[in-house]
Amino acid sequence: MLRCEAGVLLKDIQRLAVPRGWMLAVTPGSWLVTVGGAIANDVHGKNHHAYGTFGDHVQSLVLQRTDGERLTCSRDINPDWFLASVGGLGLTGLIVEAQLQLRPVAGPLLDVETQAFEGLGQFYQMAEQATTSWEYSVAWIDCVHPGSRRGIFMQANHSSASAKKHDDGAPPKFNLAFTPPVSLVNKLTLKPFNAAYYHLHKRRSGKSVSHYQPYFYPLDTIADWNRMYGPKGFYQYQCLIPGTDSRSVVEELLDVISAAKKGSFLAVLKVFAERQAAGLLSFPAEGTTLALDFPNRGQETHDLFDRLDSIIESVGGRLYPAKDARMPKHLFISGYPRLDEFLGYRDPGISSALSRRLLGS
Ligand SMILES: Cc1cc2nc3c(=O)[nH]c(=O)nc-3n(C[C@H](O)[C@H](O)[C@H](O)COP(=O)(O)OP(=O)(O)OC[C@H]3O[C@@H](n4cnc5c(N)ncnc54)[C@H](O)[C@@H]3O)c2cc1C
Repeated sequence: MLRCEAGVLLKDIQRLAVPRGWMLAVTPGSWLVTVGGAIANDVHGKNHHAYGTFGDHVQSLVLQRTDGERLTCSRDINPDWFLASVGGLGLTGLIVEAQLQLRPVAGPLLDVETQAFEGLGQFYQMAEQATTSWEYSVAWIDCVHPGSRRGIFMQANHSSASAKKHDDGAPPKFNLAFTPPVSLVNKLTLKPFNAAYYHLHKRRSGKSVSHYQPYFYPLDTIADWNRMYGPKGFYQYQCLIPGTDSRSVVEELLDVISAAKKGSFLAVLKVFAERQAAGLLSFPAEGTTLALDFPNRGQETHDLFDRLDSIIESVGGRLYPAKDARMPKHLFISGYPRLDEFLGYRDPGISSALSRRLLGS
């Protein structure tokens, strides 16, 4: 059990715990995230079917309200405040401290298997098979390929092999030292980038052993990677398509993206299992999540998001607030049916750009 201040980075926890045979049970795709941020968004990793979300491993938290009250919350003490604050987007108060249950691991290594897939049918088959024998699974999809929906499926388990040294926390291997004047992800580069990524990983498919750091946190190996999108930056669109039969909806979303002649280099597909959500506003629920990064091209990018939103809304899906900078209020309301319950726990002294846009204050 780890007790820490909420400002501690996940990186510091992993570096402290792994050499001692412990690890965070759930970790997002970056370790440059604080414990408070991970709880406030009830973040997920690549092992939702096995370990749920970050909030599932929080034993208790201390909430500082702006009226001076300090509440200790857990599943037994102030359980309603706990449920509202896990995934509560920082709107119930400031989380100042937490107790996390870590999980034991033999070492820092993972046994990884990489496979190429052709078509979403094959992706879903691999995801289904992975649930029984692999703890981690995630797929990258080539969303600009004109033919079948091809991609790379990566699954992993903790390895019993011991590492010669714990080189956790190695500094980033690459550095985008300056912001290019235009996005490096554009019409000219997207297809070759995606094709190269697909073929490189297809050629390397099979079994391998990997340190957890590049497997869990690939983008953290490139310092300031977001600069590749140029001065206008990018948006990430991450949605949840609920239910066990999400294939045709994923297909439709990808068709709309292709028809708009837009594409993403970082396109990730994950299947979430059926589990009780840890918080009132937790994003994960049974279904498929698709996350895509798009360079910011102003109105044309927003027009595409509007089309994707209507598909998501029509199937009762939701967008992930942790990644959001533009979702319309009605989609937030329809996507989070426990929102009304949550509102009773808001700290009236706290608002954010997101709360002002989505909740009016
Ligand atoms: C490269 C990359 C990969 C990612 N991969 C994943 C992934 O796989 N899965 C996933 O779920 N997410 C993922 N994320 C999103 C990330 O995990 C969340 O956005 C996380 O909340 C960021 O934490 P932070 O400490 O940077 O918080 P901030 O960005 O500073 O804050 C985010 C929100 O949390 C609230 N908050 C922060 N600290 C506290 C606190 N102490 N008390 C109360 N509220 C607080 C803030 O008010 C704000 O609403 C990824 C992000 C990046 C950049």
